Amino acid sequence: MNKPHLATDGGSPVRTQPFAEWPIFGELEEKLVLEAVRSGNWGGVSPDKIRQFEEKFAALHDARYAISVNNGTIALSIALLAGGVDAGDEVIMPPYTFIATATAALLIGAIPVFADVDESMLLDPERVEAAITSSTKAIIAVHLAGAPANMTKLKEISDRHGLVLIEDAAQAVGARWEERGVGAIGDLGTFSLQSSKNLNCGEGGVILSNNEALADHAWSLHNCGRVGNGKWYQHDIVGWNFRFSEIQAALAVAQLTRLEDQMAIREQRAKQLNDRLSAMEGIRTVAYDSRITRHANHLYLFKLDRGITDQVDKADFIRKLNAEGIPVTDGYVPLNANAAIINRTRELLGVERRYSCPAAERAADKEVLWLYQNVLLGSESDIEDIAAGIEKVIQSYQ
Ligand SMILES: *Cc1c(COP(=O)(O)O)cnc(C)c1O
Repeated sequence: MNKPHLATDGGSPVRTQPFAEWPIFGELEEKLVLEAVRSGNWGGVSPDKIRQFEEKFAALHDARYAISVNNGTIALSIALLAGGVDAGDEVIMPPYTFIATATAALLIGAIPVFADVDESMLLDPERVEAAITSSTKAIIAVHLAGAPANMTKLKEISDRHGLVLIEDAAQAVGARWEERGVGAIGDLGTFSLQSSKNLNCGEGGVILSNNEALADHAWSLHNCGRVGNGKWYQHDIVGWNFRFSEIQAALAVAQLTRLEDQMAIREQRAKQLNDRLSAMEGIRTVAYDSRITRHANHLYLFKLDRGITDQVDKADFIRKLNAEGIPVTDGYVPLNANAAIINRTRELLGVERRYSCPAAERAADKEVLWLYQNVLLGSESDIEDIAAGIEKVIQSYQ
């Protein structure tokens, strides 16, 4: 991608320089990791950095309780279990998400049920309501790309039907819905600290909740079924070891100090790109709900306009844009069409289930394009290059 090359028109590409690197770190990360190493308290049996991290992370999201765990997938499985989801229960989720949203449910024997997304690629509450059956136990709202799903409506639906509402906020650290931090708006919320995410310590995850009983249950599940103030070998429920470590927490604490500045830069660059692309023929920007008072910009999504998708093939558009040095990517294949999910669900149920999700399928096949968050950490002229590349490729079809 970043090597000199020719654009597909045979001329020189719009961009030959690489975009901003990820992760960004410095002396603070080295200092805090060294402190954790020298403490000898690596696993965090008497947590110091883990506690600091959890307090700061909870405060950032207006949550009372935070439990750090080994990754975001397990965070979701634990949240489902803590919420009372059992083998055979149905969990409604959007098809347009990373596979872990569904595999976290399958890991505990629960059945993913797909409700289609809206124009902004977020779970559509009306589709959720239509998918509820007597076996439904939970809803997972995915804050895709860093944009919170409609938590007001989803909460109203989950309350009315007595369901557990979980936020998969893996991509949405720092995001806000109606001025409120994501993660503890629903019953439980989960985050990922994996390398690609906006807050990264290599691997890791967090569970948030404002409900003390749910938080205690989640804590116990991630720590071998131990009891909060109990004896070391007291295990009142079956749990596992899904703990975080002090070394990971040291990195996460350091990275947290950089988050606000990085969020502000991403916001400026996303706005700049929106302004450029919304004026461009053939391209559509994503219109987000105004109740999203902070978008975490983990991904920048934009679309090929429906009016041109008969002439402009998405794969061809991506190939041309990549040849211009612009690292645009294809994005997810909707999970309702994913063989692993379909097969595992059939194994668990004994029958095959197929879901039709035309909005997600159409967008994924023909319209939606992604840029990763690191691209938004560059300069204004980086964004100008991206816009120029997109404009050039769009014009090549005319
Ligand atoms: C990254 C991600 C996860 C899984 O997190 P891991 O830490 O990689 O296990 C789950 N859901 C979504 C939407 C994600 O983007």
